[in-house]
Amino acid sequence: MIKELQLRILPEQASSEQLLKRIVSLETATDSKDICAIRILKRSIDARQRTIYINLKVRVFIKEEPDEQEYIPVDYKDVSGTKQVIIVGAGPGGLFAALRLIELGFRPVVVERGKNVHERKKDLAIISREHKVNSESNYSFGEGGAGAYSDGKLYTRSKKRGSVDKILNVFCQHGASPSILYDAHPHIGTDKLPRVIENIRNRIIHCGGEVHFETRMDSFIIKGDEVIGIETNTGKCFEGPVILATGHSARDVYYYLYKKKVTIESKPIAVGVRLEHPQELIDQIQYKRKEGRGAYLPSAEYSYVTQVNGRGVYSFCMCPGGFVVPAASGEKQVVVNGMSPSNRNSKWANAGMVVEVRPEDLPEFSLHKELALLKFQQEMEEHAWLNGGMKQTAPAQRMYDFVKKKNSSDLPVSSYTPGLLASPLHFWMPGFITSRLSDGFRHFGKTSHGFLTNEALLIGVETRTSSPVRILRDKETLQHVTFRGLFPCGEGAGYAGGIVSAAIDGERCAEAVVSFLR
Ligand SMILES: Cc1cc2nc3c(=O)[nH]c(=O)nc-3n(C[C@H](O)[C@H](O)[C@H](O)COP(=O)(O)OP(=O)(O)OC[C@H]3O[C@@H](n4cnc5c(N)ncnc54)[C@H](O)[C@@H]3O)c2cc1C
Repeated sequence: MIKELQLRILPEQASSEQLLKRIVSLETATDSKDICAIRILKRSIDARQRTIYINLKVRVFIKEEPDEQEYIPVDYKDVSGTKQVIIVGAGPGGLFAALRLIELGFRPVVVERGKNVHERKKDLAIISREHKVNSESNYSFGEGGAGAYSDGKLYTRSKKRGSVDKILNVFCQHGASPSILYDAHPHIGTDKLPRVIENIRNRIIHCGGEVHFETRMDSFIIKGDEVIGIETNTGKCFEGPVILATGHSARDVYYYLYKKKVTIESKPIAVGVRLEHPQELIDQIQYKRKEGRGAYLPSAEYSYVTQVNGRGVYSFCMCPGGFVVPAASGEKQVVVNGMSPSNRNSKWANAGMVVEVRPEDLPEFSLHKELALLKFQQEMEEHAWLNGGMKQTAPAQRMYDFVKKKNSSDLPVSSYTPGLLASPLHFWMPGFITSRLSDGFRHFGKTSHGFLTNEALLIGVETRTSSPVRILRDKETLQHVTFRGLFPCGEGAGYAGGIVSAAIDGERCAEAVVSFLR
């Protein structure tokens, strides 16, 4: 017999299989010996009151073994010898496009400018240790894309539950924990993601596809109004329709499209800082108790949003128990972002704290139009580099000092390994950002007592929150508005923001290419 139950239990009770079994046995009036398996279908934390509960929806197998797999596997075919499709970029957009093409019987050829996910790790260590950024292999470029060394948060605002579930199932099929299928806020963690990405690559190759690392697309091969392939820096050309999934940091790609008169437009972004608190403090605030999270609760998360003078101010990509990382993709830039291991057990909590920026906020918009926000990002990153000591050392200021427009005479210990330099961010960051950030911090400090504190640190700058450019595509065919055979995809094209939405867009683009080829 199979029964489904809704439980509201204490964290300690949810933490052990034995305790959970005892509760289920009482609830179902069944001898625990007869309970063959308990499968969790949904799990969330209710921390609204002083007593914290775990809400669980479970499926209980009584006197019968579960015959179903924990995830729904996809049947991938051998596609050797079938028509090929070129995918530029091995981020979630590109990789999920490749998997979907295989599912539909077409052969993906993936071209990635960076190194494979393991080799890439060495270049990340060099950024921290030697302050040298390899412009082809860094936190943005390389196998797995921008999200490979991240928190691996897999929640999205997308309402397309079916599409989201499909992506999560594919992650499980390639080695992610099935907990991502039932957790309210699923995440994989930077220690586990590389293995999953490697499994996806092996799948592509095993099914007859190709993956070329250290191969950068430099131009399209165009015949009339159709893109029929690409040229790369290795001298090798690849022919076929092109899914362009190059992410939001491939500025050379935007400049190339602009020069080639491939229609693009500027798009609003959000810019600000990375905010780092002691995790213990966030635990105390979010779980509303002095003792913090205790032994059975995970590192607490937060999410804040408000409006200041007509622009959104909000937390972004929160990483509980994580690290602030140097996410520059070239020389003379300092860009920060965040990542966490799967157990989210560092001493720090960090999140982007950003202000919405629209094209009309920039006086020079009329000069640069399509590239206005891209140029603004570049300027901000260069300012951060100059103010951070012209290395990967990042400019930083204590939170309350920033709000009070006061220099910080010293800085707390931080997770950011290249090091910090005390800097008056309130002074050199644009006023339309700092004034809104300050008001936002005051507001968040009122709603969450203790959040606005000098124990917290602002680290500059957080600029790569989304693409500053949209590559225009037809709503139905997903082809570029003027070039047939070109499918702008994922975050870099302006159609996704995050791992899951980029993966969903990758699948959609694959389906669109298949319609085009048929
Ligand atoms: C440190 C960090 C942490 C993040 N954490 C999270 C998180 O926890 N959850 C979340 O949802 N999102 C997170 N993000 C954002 C997320 O990674 C992106 O939204 C997502 O990766 C976008 O996917 P994409 O495939 O569209 O582009 P990308 O992942 O950016 O992939 C683009 C790929 O194209 C390659 N490329 C670029 N130009 C060329 C070229 N000319 N030729 C060949 N290849 C090229 C790049 O090397 C790159 O691998 C994080 C980002 C960073 C940087």
